[in-house]
Amino acid sequence: MSKDFTLAEIPVQHIHDKFLAKSGIRLSILRLDLIHPEISGNKWFKLKQNLELARDEGRDTLLSFGGPWSNHLHSMAYAGQYFDFSTIGIVRGELPSPLNACLQDASNAGMELHAMTRADYKEKEKPEFLERINKQFGNVYLIPEGGANRAGVQGCAEITSLYPPTFDLVCVACGTGATLAGMASASKIPLLGFQVLKGKGYLKNQVNTLMHQYQLSATCQWDVCDAYHGGGYAKVTDDLMRFLTEFERQHGVPLEPVYSGKMLFGLFNLIRKRDFFPQNYSILVIHGGGLQGNRGI
Ligand SMILES: *Cc1c(COP(=O)(O)O)cnc(C)c1O
Repeated sequence: MSKDFTLAEIPVQHIHDKFLAKSGIRLSILRLDLIHPEISGNKWFKLKQNLELARDEGRDTLLSFGGPWSNHLHSMAYAGQYFDFSTIGIVRGELPSPLNACLQDASNAGMELHAMTRADYKEKEKPEFLERINKQFGNVYLIPEGGANRAGVQGCAEITSLYPPTFDLVCVACGTGATLAGMASASKIPLLGFQVLKGKGYLKNQVNTLMHQYQLSATCQWDVCDAYHGGGYAKVTDDLMRFLTEFERQHGVPLEPVYSGKMLFGLFNLIRKRDFFPQNYSILVIHGGGLQGNRGI
């Protein structure tokens, strides 16, 4: 029997402080972190249509990939529990022993975990690899790392319906770029993606590739800021942590340093550059959830 699944109302929270007032910026946060206690943030939107497709195709097992602190695997494990799918998580590198808090949650929610060497993990998009997966695990519904397939991208278009089109700019933190690609196919407002991984220009290419691959066209201007990855994925500095602690204390918004926190830190740096944004500019940032990962920081 599946558990009851209810989504919460998602508030747009206005953020007021002296710095923003002095800078002439109006800032708000779309609290996707509050959408559900277990299937968090943008991951719900990437999973939603995948769950429907898996059901339509008659598959009873979802299989996907992620690192040992993957928000995606964490959410997928719970989604399986709510919507009556078995779940298999292929974890990059070794399974920590004992399991870390993220993987322990996933396991408790019924996910079967398998470790995969980093070398094999790199091959996971190749056809031979997919054949092997099918042989080993049978008739599974396969979701790529981060949920970045067509259904995942399309599902993220819905995020743009959760706020009024009255902002000048919407900011979103980006890993695979699936969320940005989906939003760019539906937004009426310009979007700015903050790249949280190293690699100049990779995210812009990745978003263009996703949109091309799934024949989506942009309904708005969109761009990528790749200046604030802070040294690379999940790299955390003291400055960043101080910023998050202070932001949380002042505004009561819990953050994590890998995605949304890193984006806000970057955005505040942009705001600090005088004349980067026009006076009275109104910015909405998407809080992508993923707070479970804080247990690993
Ligand atoms: C996965 C994730 C992102 C990145 O989403 P992409 O679609 O991969 O770009 C952003 N924020 C949080 C909290 C996430 O868990």
